[in-house]
Amino acid sequence: MNLTVTPSSAAIEVVGLTKRYGQGAPAVDDINLRIESGSYCCLLGPSGCGKSTTLRMIAGHESVTSGDILLDNRNITELPASARGTAMMFQSFALFPHLTALDNVAFSLKMKGIPRGERYAKAQGLLERVAMGQFAQRKPGELSGGQQQRVALARALINQPRVLLLDEPLSALDPFLRIQMRAELRRWQKELGLTFVHVTHSQEEAMALADVMVVMNSGRIEQVGSPHQVYNRPVNEFVARFMGGHNVLDTPEGRVGVRTDHIQIAAGHIPEPGHSRSKKAVITDVEYQGTYVLLGLQDPHASRSAHSTSELAVLLSEARFSERPFSVGELVQLSWAAEAAHALQENRRAPV
Ligand code: ADP
Ligand code: MG
Repeated sequence: MNLTVTPSSAAIEVVGLTKRYGQGAPAVDDINLRIESGSYCCLLGPSGCGKSTTLRMIAGHESVTSGDILLDNRNITELPASARGTAMMFQSFALFPHLTALDNVAFSLKMKGIPRGERYAKAQGLLERVAMGQFAQRKPGELSGGQQQRVALARALINQPRVLLLDEPLSALDPFLRIQMRAELRRWQKELGLTFVHVTHSQEEAMALADVMVVMNSGRIEQVGSPHQVYNRPVNEFVARFMGGHNVLDTPEGRVGVRTDHIQIAAGHIPEPGHSRSKKAVITDVEYQGTYVLLGLQDPHASRSAHSTSELAVLLSEARFSERPFSVGELVQLSWAAEAAHALQENRRAPV
């Protein structure tokens, strides 16, 4: 028996994957995606965009309307969940409160009828793998949040999955624990070298964790890329707004995105700089954030129909703000360098 439990990772590919529930728009609409072996992939998007449905179809907990799911080039679309080589980790870890850590980890082996000695040896080996060996006899209520997460991880690994699927595992935790736990998840993923597919609606969480981010909207994929690519080059207005930290501006050159920290701000009535990369605006909000101050602004000339581009934001360092504090009601001049603006494609569909 292998007690060192060295998982072998696999790539996941979905081809033309679609899920329809009833008559309306599909929950997942003909998506194509390849997730490389050993990578940390986050499926990101607003509530209802189809993240969980996609994950459940990969897990085999949801049937597929059309399309295929491949694990290392093997078509697993019709296989039962237990035969796929995937495992699922659920929100708040979903440990059985009345069972010890060891019994939690060994549970699925017990269901399979594996003899007691063998299943305990394997479960103990996995608890040791996640540095929880000495806590095997504790119940979840006697463990910290971080320790519970490690038990949940050991339990998910008991059947030697090649891909771990995580559906909002951190969403029900308090903010402090959530940030600690995501650092742990990231560390374990690297250490195990296993493919992780993690569903979240939090941009911050996805950016902190992912090698590759998949931004979804209304059942479709809007953009796939590294956190750096997606944050710095959102392809369209939907991604720019969903990721945050961007202004969407209508310029004579078309619609562009400019990061809130890449906009210069000057006080008072400045002569026009003679190029299109500037705008007058009125400060509507000043929010102190510690290291930064976030200014909310409104374009005084924007028509009502262009409402979505009339609300602007500028992020200043605290030092810059202290040099020259701005206050609500002030008229200012905003400008940006040509290289700070990048073109946004038309949204495929209206943002939800
Ligand atoms: P997300 O995880 O991104 O919040 P889901 O994948 O859970 O979104 O849901 C996508 C869409 O499919 C939503 O409109 C949701 O209402 C619908 N949906 C999900 N599960 C079911 C189901 N079992 N029956 C009918 N509709 C569903
Ligand atoms: Mg969901």
